[in-house]
Amino acid sequence: RNTGERHSYDVVVVGAGGAGLRAAIAAHDAGARTAIVCKSLLGKAHTVMAEGGIAAAMGNAWPEDNWKVHFRDTMRGGKMLNHWRMAQLHAQEAPDRVLELEEWGALFDRTQDGLISQRDFGGHRYARLAHVGDRTGLEMIRTLQQRAVALGIDVFMECTITEILKDGDRVAGAFGYWRESGRLITFEAPSVVLATGGIGKSFKVTSNSWEYTGDGHALAVRAGASLINMEFVQFHPTGMVWPPSVRGILVTESVRGDGGVLKNSEGRRFMFDYIPDFFKAETADSIEEADRWYTDKKNNRRPPELLPRDEVARAINSEVKAGRGTPHGGIYLDIASRRDPEYIMRRLPSMYHQFKELADVDITREPMEIGPTCHYVMGGVEVDPDTAASIVPGLYAAGEVAGGMHGSNRLGGNSLSDLLVFGRRAGLNAAYYAARTQDAPVTVDDDAVLVAADAALAPFSEEGGENPYTVQKDLQEVMHNLVGIIRTADELEQALGEIEKLAERSRHLTVEGNRQYNPGWHLAIDLQNMLWVSECIAKAALTRTESRGGHTRDDYPMTDQDWGTKNIVLRRRNDSVELAIQPLPQMPAELKALFEEK
Ligand code: FAD
Repeated sequence: RNTGERHSYDVVVVGAGGAGLRAAIAAHDAGARTAIVCKSLLGKAHTVMAEGGIAAAMGNAWPEDNWKVHFRDTMRGGKMLNHWRMAQLHAQEAPDRVLELEEWGALFDRTQDGLISQRDFGGHRYARLAHVGDRTGLEMIRTLQQRAVALGIDVFMECTITEILKDGDRVAGAFGYWRESGRLITFEAPSVVLATGGIGKSFKVTSNSWEYTGDGHALAVRAGASLINMEFVQFHPTGMVWPPSVRGILVTESVRGDGGVLKNSEGRRFMFDYIPDFFKAETADSIEEADRWYTDKKNNRRPPELLPRDEVARAINSEVKAGRGTPHGGIYLDIASRRDPEYIMRRLPSMYHQFKELADVDITREPMEIGPTCHYVMGGVEVDPDTAASIVPGLYAAGEVAGGMHGSNRLGGNSLSDLLVFGRRAGLNAAYYAARTQDAPVTVDDDAVLVAADAALAPFSEEGGENPYTVQKDLQEVMHNLVGIIRTADELEQALGEIEKLAERSRHLTVEGNRQYNPGWHLAIDLQNMLWVSECIAKAALTRTESRGGHTRDDYPMTDQDWGTKNIVLRRRNDSVELAIQPLPQMPAELKALFEEK
C-alpha cells in the first residue's frame, strides 16, 4: 500500500510559532538536519497576536530589576505551583534571548538613552516588557522566520502531524498529511520537538484560532508522555460572544478603561455587587464615584469594572448563570451610551474598525455582547526543565504546549520569553540527542505508518456516521458549560460522562467529499485531539479540590495549602488517561530565601 512520501531528518519541529522557530534555529545551529512542519501558513501562529511584549529583567527602566525579582514575580503569579527550575532558567536567560533577537534584526522601541524600552505589566514588580509598539509578537515572528529561512531550514507548511511514530520506547518520527492535497507524509527522525501552542478550540468561546485543537498535548499523551497542570486554563473576561463571526475575539481592557461599563439584561451595572473584600479599599462603591474616576483619578477610586481579570470573569459568569445574561449567553459591554462617537473612534480605532468590518457591529451606537473567553492553557507536556525533554526518549516540548513554567497562572509577557528560552533549549537538546542516537539508529516501522494512515483516513470509510461539526459543537458546549471558569464536582462528573459519550460518537464520523482540501475531514482528525485534552482538563479539575490561579471550584472556594505542594500528572492508559498526584519539586534554600525578602 502506498503511504505517501517520506523524509529523513535529525530533528523535526512541529509548529512554527515563537517556540518552534527558535527551536529549529537552535537545532540547525547545533548541526542537526532540521525541518519545521506547521499546520497553517508559515507566519500564521498565535505568537503573531501577542501585543504586550517580552518579559525580561534587563534593568533598562529600573536598574533594581534582576532575574531574582523576575523569578519571584513569576512564582507568585503562578501561586507557587510553577516548576522552580523552569522559572529560574526563564528569568535568568530571557535578557540574552531578547538581545539575541535584536542582533538578528528585531527593532524594539527605545528609551531616550537608546536602550531597549521596557513597559509595565500586571504582576511584574518593575517595568520589564521589551516591546515593539503593540505588535511585539509580529516582530518576533518576522525576525525568527527570516533567520530560519536564511539558514535554509526546510519548511513544510499547511501540513498537519497526526501521530508520533515510535521504535520501541523511542521516538522514530512523525506522520501527517498535506492539507491541500490530502496526501500522506512520513518523517523519519530520532528527535521531535512539539511546539504546537494551545487548546482553546475545545471551548465554545475562545480567543484562539482554528489550529488550536491541542494537537501537541494529545500527540504527546498518546506517545506515552505525561501532562501536568491541565486543570489550569486562563480565561480573559471580555471576549465577544455575538455575532458568531467575532465570537471569542478579545475586546481590549481599554474599552473599560475609557468608560465602557458592564450591564446585565436588567440594565444593572452588576460589578458593584462583586467587589471582593480584598479590593474594597481601592474600588469605588457608588456609580457616582466610579464615573468621577475617569476625569479625576487622584480623588476617586477605580470603577469595579476594572478589577483584575479573574474577578471580572467570575462576576460575568455568575450573572449569566443566574439568568441575567444576554440572549446569546453573555453580558453587555456598553461604551456607546457613555461616550460620543468621535471619542470612541479616536481612543479605540482598531476596536471600532475590527467590529465594524468583521461583524457589522458599530460600537459607537450599540453595546457589545461579551463574556469570558478561553485564552491560554498553563498545562502541558511535563518536561525536564534544563533539556525540555519529555519522558519519551526523543520527544521534546516547548512553548504553550509544555507545562510547568507558569504553574497555576501565567503573567502577561512571560509567554513570549518562555518561547525563546525553552524553544532554544528544546532545539539544542533535541539535536544533541539525535547525534547520540547515531550508533543505534531508530527505524520507522511500515506497519506503524499503516496504522497511522488508517486512523487518519477512517472517516472516509464510515457510512451514515455523524458530521464532525456537530460533535465538535457539542463538545464545546460541554466544556463551556461544565468545565469553564467556575467548576463544581457535580458538573465535572457530568462533563466526564458527556466526554465519554462524545468520544464514542467521534468513532463514527462521516465526512463528505474527497481528500483534497477537506476541512470536515481535518476537523474529524482534530476532534480526537480535542477529546483527549478535554478529558485531561476535566479529570484534573475534578481531582483538585481547591481554587487556585486558573482553576476555580465553587464547592472549594479557598486555596488549600496542602494542594500547594502537589501536581496532578496525567498519562495514557489504553484509550483513556489515568491520573497521579506528584509532589512539587523541592526549591533550593537560596531560592526559597528570596520569598522572605521584601
Ligand atoms: P503558537 O505561536 O501558537 O504556534 C503553534 C504552531 O503550531 C503553529 O505554527 C501551528 O500551525 C502549529 N501546529 C499546531 N498543531 C499542529 C499540528 N498538528 N501539525 C503541525 N503544526 C501544528 N502572550 C503574551 O505573552 N503577551 C500577549 O500580549 C499575548 N496576547 C495574546 C493575544 C491572543 C489573541 C492570543 C490568542 C494569545 C496571546 N498571548 C499573549 C499568548 C501567546 O501568544 C501564545 O501563548 C504563544 O504565542 C504560543 O506560542 P507557541 O510558539 O507555543 O505556539
